Amino acid sequence: MTGVCAQSFIMNKENKENKENKENKEFDITVPGNKIALGHLHPLTQTKKRVEEIFQTMGFSIVEGPDMETEWYNFDALNIPKNHPARDLWDTFYLKNGLLLRTHTSPVQIRYLEKNNLPLRIIVPGNVFRREATNASHEFQLFQIEGLMVDKKISVANLKAIVGEFFRRFFEKDVKFRLKPDYFPFTEPSFDIGISCLVCRERGCPACKGSGWMEVAGAGMVHPNVFKNSGLIPKDWQGWAFGFGLERLTMLKYKINDIRLFRSGDLKFLQQF
Ligand SMILES: [Zn+2]
Repeated sequence: MTGVCAQSFIMNKENKENKENKENKEFDITVPGNKIALGHLHPLTQTKKRVEEIFQTMGFSIVEGPDMETEWYNFDALNIPKNHPARDLWDTFYLKNGLLLRTHTSPVQIRYLEKNNLPLRIIVPGNVFRREATNASHEFQLFQIEGLMVDKKISVANLKAIVGEFFRRFFEKDVKFRLKPDYFPFTEPSFDIGISCLVCRERGCPACKGSGWMEVAGAGMVHPNVFKNSGLIPKDWQGWAFGFGLERLTMLKYKINDIRLFRSGDLKFLQQF
């Protein structure tokens, strides 16, 4: 190779390298790309799916009912007579079409008992509505999961066993829970199922109103009048029912101290799940 040729070769090579460098600058593989925003399930939906899974493995069917109800299904059939003070327990949204927004998922108990053969075990997930002021532990729209088990010989012991097993699987550890006497017109005896507050570990916080315990469900043995109003002979059947608040369960599981966050639409909150 002559001197001129060698020089020209070197110059060509430099030009080529410059050109390649320039092209490489336009496509720098080390620059992070634009992040693709992926949606995910709302924490309440995640909890709902998990609760359904657990009860399905224990032989429960999932049943749904209408959000708009008649007074008969929401109150009368559930042993809550007209003008009975118990109706004050549920401040109700009445609709112009003569129906109301159901205040609990219990109307589905009647609807299902009317049309299906016994024995049965069902859970009923769904929205319920209460006309009340909101604070850290109260919302006007809630998500409830109703449970109903009916057979020839059912006792409170069955209720405790199922609820205890559910808590163990849902929280993935042994959790303290208690049944306290309570009053509901459609169960006798009635209980309030409380769980030791996992947000504050019984020290007291806004989520448990400082008590260290959180009410997660109302429960009890199905009242004979409920069987009667469903067209069944009360002495032939026994059963228990419960109504869980899905928000409370989610708050306990993820240590959330304000119920209003769920429906706030705050992405900073939602993206943590
Ligand atoms: Zn607490």
